[in-house]
Amino acid sequence: MAHSVILNTGAEMPIIGLGTWRAEKGQVTEAVQTAISVGYRHIDGAYVYQNEEEVGDGVHTMINKGLVKREELFIVSKLWCTFHVSSLVRGACEKTLGDMKLDYLDLYLMHFPMGFQPGDNLFPSDDDGLVIPDDSNFLDTWEAMEELVDAGLVKAIGVSNFNKDQMEAVLNKPGLKYKPAVNQIECHPYLTQEKLINFCQSLGIAVTAYSPLGSPDRPWATPDEPFLLEDPKVQAIADKHQKTPAQVLIRFHIQRKVIVIPKSAKPHRIKENFEVFDFKLSDEDMDSILSFNRNWRGFPMNWGAKHKDYPLNAEF
Ligand code: NDP
Repeated sequence: MAHSVILNTGAEMPIIGLGTWRAEKGQVTEAVQTAISVGYRHIDGAYVYQNEEEVGDGVHTMINKGLVKREELFIVSKLWCTFHVSSLVRGACEKTLGDMKLDYLDLYLMHFPMGFQPGDNLFPSDDDGLVIPDDSNFLDTWEAMEELVDAGLVKAIGVSNFNKDQMEAVLNKPGLKYKPAVNQIECHPYLTQEKLINFCQSLGIAVTAYSPLGSPDRPWATPDEPFLLEDPKVQAIADKHQKTPAQVLIRFHIQRKVIVIPKSAKPHRIKENFEVFDFKLSDEDMDSILSFNRNWRGFPMNWGAKHKDYPLNAEF
C-alpha cells in the first residue's frame, strides 16, 4: 500500500483518511464513495458523529461494485466517553460494527481519556456546562479494549486526545497486552505539537492529525479566532507550489510522517485534498510552517476542564 505509515502492529495505515465529523447523513454516503473512487483507502469515523450507518453504506456500495475490497480499506472508529466503564466497551464496539455492517474495524480509538456518566445522553453535563464524569479509569477501559483485539472485533487499538503523561500511564500499565498503535490529536500549523509527536513517534506510536484545516466548521468558532485556510503565509507557500492552502496544510503532515484526516463532504474538495503526492514542501517551507505555531486549539474541551482526566493542563 503506497503512502502509508506502518503501525506497531505491522499493519499499514494509509496516511490520508477522510474525516467524517459533521458530515451530514444525507451527504456522507456519497462523500465516502467519492473518496474511495479518487484513491482514499482510510475513513475516520466515530460513534458520536452519529452517521456510521451512512458511512458504512458508502463503503459497502463501493465493495459491492467491485471497486475496492474490504481488506484494502482501513476503517477507524472511536469508543465514545459514555462507554468507558469496562462492561460497556464491547457492546459499544459491536454497535458501531452493526451500524457499519462490518465484521471488524482496522483501528478503534478511545475518543478521549475522560469517561462520562453512562446513559443515552452523549454529553451529560451539569448546570455549568461541565461534563458529568463516570467513575472509570482509562487504564481499565484500555484493558477492555485489548479484549476487542483478542475477540477479533478490531485489528488494532489506540487513543485520542491523550497527553504525554496519559500515554505513559498506558505504556506503564502493569500487564499491558497491547501498546496503543496511534494517538489521534489536534494538529495543524497553529498547534504544531512537536513535543507530543516526537514523544509518540520515538516510542513507535503513530500520530494522526485531526482538524488539519483548522476545523472552520466547528460550532463554537468565534469571528476573532484565526482562520488557517485564509492565512496569507499559508497562501504564499501554496502559490509558490501552485497548490491550494488546503493541499499545503495536508502535505505538511505527510512530510512529518503524521497521518492526516481532512473532512469534506464536497466532491471537488475531497479530490483536491488527496492531490498532495505530486509536490514537496522544501525544508525552508516546513520550518516556516512550524514557526506559525501559536498553541491555538480549535478543541479546548472546556466542558472537561474539571474532569480528573482532562488532558490539556499538562505541558504536552
Ligand atoms: P478539518 O480541519 O478537516 O476541516 C473541515 C472543514 O473544512 C469542513 O468545513 C470542510 O467543508 C472544509 N474543507 C475541507 N476541505 C477544504 C478545502 N479543500 N478547501 C476549503 N475548505 C475545505 O476539520 P475537522 O474538525 O472535521 O477534522 C477532520 C476530522 O478529524 C474530523 O472530520 C474527524 O474525523 C476527526 N476529528 C477527531 C477529533 C477527535 O477528538 N479525535 C476531533 C475533531 C475531528 P466541506 O465539508 O463543506 O468541504
